[in-house]
Amino acid sequence: MIINGTKIAKAIAEDIKEKILKCKNRPNLSVILVGNNPASLIYIRMKEKACERVGIDFKVQHFNEEEKEGTILNEIDKLNQDDRVNGILVQMPLPKQISNKKVIERIDPEKDVDGFHPINVGKMLIGDDSGFLSCTPLGIKTLLIKSNIKVESKHVVILGRSNIVGKPLAAILMQKKPHCNATVTVCHSYSKNLKEITRSADILVAAIGKPKFVTQDMVKDNTIVIDVGINYLKQTDGTTKILGDVDFENVSKIASQITPVPKGVGPMTVVSLLQNTYMSFKRKNEK
Ligand code: NDP
Repeated sequence: MIINGTKIAKAIAEDIKEKILKCKNRPNLSVILVGNNPASLIYIRMKEKACERVGIDFKVQHFNEEEKEGTILNEIDKLNQDDRVNGILVQMPLPKQISNKKVIERIDPEKDVDGFHPINVGKMLIGDDSGFLSCTPLGIKTLLIKSNIKVESKHVVILGRSNIVGKPLAAILMQKKPHCNATVTVCHSYSKNLKEITRSADILVAAIGKPKFVTQDMVKDNTIVIDVGINYLKQTDGTTKILGDVDFENVSKIASQITPVPKGVGPMTVVSLLQNTYMSFKRKNEK
């Protein structure tokens, strides 16, 4: 069965829209974009459209590639102090003169809707729900819940240990909480006997950034496969094809459920950003 991430994300967005319609004010998400990375421009446009659809005010400040780090940090300070702003997002990657670490740590953790600030990462690790979970792992958790996939007591194998996908997803799914309680194995480029590990998975998550890396022989029958990868491949006719990290055509023949790329995890990441922004807005109004 193919899991339709777009459909699940749409239903969640609809629910957020209805809740916002009942509010006096609209939530605000403020975004800082530096440079013209083509993928970043696409992502920003997608986030903007998603916000517009549910009634979240979306404001982008676009700086040129050579902008100084100080300017960006000052801008974050202004957004931190602005009461109308509920969420702050700095689109990655940043040009090399700007430190990712300084930028992430400058954002007020209460407005850090990407969930990258060390305070939010720490809260996630200790299972404190007062922070923000980063959007892709939150989206995957939601996708599993909405698809009635139980992770409790299951062996979840995650390929990839990045700070934005693999590590936080492992931390979330191993929590002693409802919809968690999984036994998690995280693999990376130093892992040995990968096939043996992936074949022992009940749920296999691929987040490594290599097209069709997960082949059919790496997956045992009836595994649930979540493909996080987004790989842009130029075709001979000049067009670009988007491929996941999983050889979908062959793995889908044996997986019990599988997410496609596109229309799988991607829309769930975007809708999680809307959820986090709405949650920040609500928390502020309830203070
Ligand atoms: P990173 O490049 O930050 O991390 C990749 C991870 O894969 C690393 O931990 C790396 O290991 C591991 N890896 C690489 N090669 C191998 C290998 N041969 N065997 C085992 N592990 C390997 O990627 P991200 O986590 O940022 O992204 C992963 C993919 O997910 C990308 O395609 C990205 O575009 C996509 N993505 C999709 C999102 C969505 O919303 N759908 C959101 C975010 C990302 P090591 O640590 O040892 O280097």
